[in-house]
Amino acid sequence: MNKSLILVVEDDASVRNLITTTLKANGYRYQTAANGEMAVSDAASYNPDIVLLDLGLPDMDGMEVIRKIRSWSNMPIIVISARSEDQDKIGALDEGADDYLTKPFSVEELLARIRVAQRRLMLAGQHVSENSSVFENGELRIDYAAGIAWMQGEELHLTPIEYKLLCLLSKNVGKVLTHNYITECIWGSSWENDVASLRVYMATLRKKLEAKGGKNHSYIQTQIGVGYRMVK
Ligand code: CA
Repeated sequence: MNKSLILVVEDDASVRNLITTTLKANGYRYQTAANGEMAVSDAASYNPDIVLLDLGLPDMDGMEVIRKIRSWSNMPIIVISARSEDQDKIGALDEGADDYLTKPFSVEELLARIRVAQRRLMLAGQHVSENSSVFENGELRIDYAAGIAWMQGEELHLTPIEYKLLCLLSKNVGKVLTHNYITECIWGSSWENDVASLRVYMATLRKKLEAKGGKNHSYIQTQIGVGYRMVK
């Protein structure tokens, strides 16, 4: 259970070292980011289990980082901040942070918060695995365990990448996934070329959905300049 990957976002090197030393000593894996821009891109690249986020960052307000991550992911975010005012806590929680730790904090308190987030993740995971082996959305059906998708009862013949795209969109149904996030998930990188290929794969995937009767309902919506979303 302690193999979780934790993204540590903190510009103060001494606090960052304290956190990473603690994580290492307790068997956690970690990545570090020293500013908001790195935090957002690392969250997409590494898909960490938990984010520890300092609110006072040099380039971007921590609130903005929460907003950006929340636009495509529900990963647990524990805010760490020197600001002890209630308003900041409420603001961070309103933006979608899961928990809050005020500096100075003890190592034990930090570890306890991480364990709480892990337990929540485990419970959420159990919930998902019980209910998610078959996905249904209108006329679209996906059996994740069997690796097969149907439209109006007819099997879709998808290439491995088209199938991966369909699964990624379905598992995040209703949410906009950015080009970068999708290419990171599918190809593990996000070069310009991948975004161009993504457009091509998305177009063929859509054609296949439409050919099997998905025409009446547009399952995949394009968010121009941002990414794609599967419509419920
Ligand atoms: Ca700071």
